[in-house]
Amino acid sequence: MGRVYNFSAGPAVLPEEVLKQAANEMLDYQGCGMSVMEMSHRSKMFDNIIQEAEKDLRALMNIPDNYKVLFLQGGGSQQFAMVPMNLMKNKKAGYIVTGQWAKKAYEEASNFGDAVLLASSKDKTFSYIPDCSDLPITDDMDYVYICENNTIYGTKFSQLPNTKGKILVADQSSCFLSEPIDVTKYGLIFAGVQKNVGPAGMVVVIVREDLISDEVLPNTPTMLKYKVHSDANSIYNTPNCWCIYVCGLVFKYLLNNGGLVAMQKKNIEKAKILYDYLDNSKLFLGTARKDSRSLMNIAFIVNPNTITDPSKKEELEAKFIAEAKKVGLENLKGHRSVGGMRASIYNAMPKEGVIALVNFMKKFEEENL
Ligand SMILES: *Cc1c(COP(=O)(O)O)cnc(C)c1O
Repeated sequence: MGRVYNFSAGPAVLPEEVLKQAANEMLDYQGCGMSVMEMSHRSKMFDNIIQEAEKDLRALMNIPDNYKVLFLQGGGSQQFAMVPMNLMKNKKAGYIVTGQWAKKAYEEASNFGDAVLLASSKDKTFSYIPDCSDLPITDDMDYVYICENNTIYGTKFSQLPNTKGKILVADQSSCFLSEPIDVTKYGLIFAGVQKNVGPAGMVVVIVREDLISDEVLPNTPTMLKYKVHSDANSIYNTPNCWCIYVCGLVFKYLLNNGGLVAMQKKNIEKAKILYDYLDNSKLFLGTARKDSRSLMNIAFIVNPNTITDPSKKEELEAKFIAEAKKVGLENLKGHRSVGGMRASIYNAMPKEGVIALVNFMKKFEEENL
């Protein structure tokens, strides 16, 4: 059995070159006689791995010196609590709710202070990004929070919100390293790496130094203080060594392949192939509003205007997902909360995979319309 085209939203496809290198180095990492999984996180060998990974990530994203890079555990979800615990000095922050992940972050923040709902797109099943040019942001808010790419609905902020001078905090889990960004526009960025970067088990936090302090909410656990991890350069306790190593390989792979400018170009090209087809299809319909479309996660359904019987529509969707799997196009089922289909076409998804998917969709459309 060969490798399939894996459209999973996460854990997701990784560059084959990186997997092969990790396999080659599995038993004996660079002549040290053991694997990365077996070495001390305080060894010279691992120190090189983590420092190199940070250096390469800084180069890739052009991260300024006054930002710290942290490699932490607990996933994206733990950041939903860590952000308010560390940044809610006034116990008030604004949240823009553009999907389930943003909603979870908003609800979690409510446990620690006054989380204010600034805008939402819940009225249309989170299929768009609301206008964020003039939000009711008040002076006493500690930060404004967004989920920049909405993995489940396939939407993305094409423009960052006007935060009226407040710190911007962004969950970039599913768009991290998909295109160049200006880090200085953010106070804090976090990303669970299992979407667009590496294996599950780690979240990267990029945080402006002046936001890291001992002044956190009372009773904040030691492990949830940015300062603790920052002072210890991400090895306060045993980190996910394997994940840091594989992410490091991915960072190098991206640097060697033109960096984020090249990645963005490739990602635009790939997404266009699928969106162009969806825009001309009778059977399928893209669900995200055009001005809010994600390059990474593309959500679509069987068009209810074409197939008007709801049970027939669902039947066709199930058939599509099952038949796609049979030809090596895997994990196209939409998130359990929205149904339909979703193709996650992260950095490591080759253009050939997207072409194969579109060709299959055309054939399916011919046969089922
Ligand atoms: C997957 C995801 C999360 C949750 O990540 P975990 O690492 O599973 O906690 C948070 N935000 C976004 C945008 C995601 O896609």
